[in-house]
Amino acid sequence: MPEGDTIYRTARTLHRALAGQTVTRFVAELAPLAQVDRAEPIAGRTIERVEAAGKHCLMTFSGGLVLRSHMRMNGSWHIYRPGEKWQMPARAMRILIETADWVAIAFNVYVAEFVDTADLDRHRPVATLGPDLLGDFDPDRALARIRDQGDRPVHEVLLDQRVMAGLGNVYKSEILFLSKLHPDTQASAVTEIAWRELMTLAQSLLRGNVVDGASGIVTYRGLRRTTGRMNPEDRLWVYSRGGQPCRKCGTTIASRKDGDAARVTYWCPSCQLLATVREHEETK
Ligand SMILES: [Zn+2]
Repeated sequence: MPEGDTIYRTARTLHRALAGQTVTRFVAELAPLAQVDRAEPIAGRTIERVEAAGKHCLMTFSGGLVLRSHMRMNGSWHIYRPGEKWQMPARAMRILIETADWVAIAFNVYVAEFVDTADLDRHRPVATLGPDLLGDFDPDRALARIRDQGDRPVHEVLLDQRVMAGLGNVYKSEILFLSKLHPDTQASAVTEIAWRELMTLAQSLLRGNVVDGASGIVTYRGLRRTTGRMNPEDRLWVYSRGGQPCRKCGTTIASRKDGDAARVTYWCPSCQLLATVREHEETK
């Protein structure tokens, strides 16, 4: 699943290639986008900038129009030279934006819309986002939102984009492991110091995975790394490792589906304790 780092990387790559260029061709397989294009053609506009806001990719065109796209589970933006072979089948194409030098294509993207630049700040999916871990992050603002979560379990709080924007399911499990927090720990049971450490960790993990690849193609390749180890087999602590031994203590990694089936939580039952228990042990 694409997370904040993937979207950030996508937006940066698209920005470098497309900013300042004029759109020569625009094609949308999504009816609401095609409708806007018929009324106010996208071809002829200049792409002013591309940026990430949480898990949304925002592409601003001259004339005050922003294309908001969300990758959900399988979406991705690719960028090619004109005539270059696509790495995805044409039927998966949803949006195509061509300039003199590049062809940018969104594959398997189903959530996309045009928003007037002036309305963006009031636009619900973007306006309700919490502080962006990959943006100009304000830990105090995030803490205030965390305090509003009360007894909600941390595994839910970390995924709530209204609290902090940028984390997905992989980082959720990895960060809880590295913070030695059981997924069911209540948000209110985690100390302010521990939350600040967790946020710093989240930022450094996300930033560590925002690196430029050799090719201009941006897609989720599952090469996210949190252990710092180079071997692809060793790159994550607990995510997707249910039933395997913990890399620190050897205990079998537990897993469980939370809410909708896509959200699997992984944790080590020995390394990750409920915060209340841990604090009690620390004061002994
Ligand atoms: Zn362990």
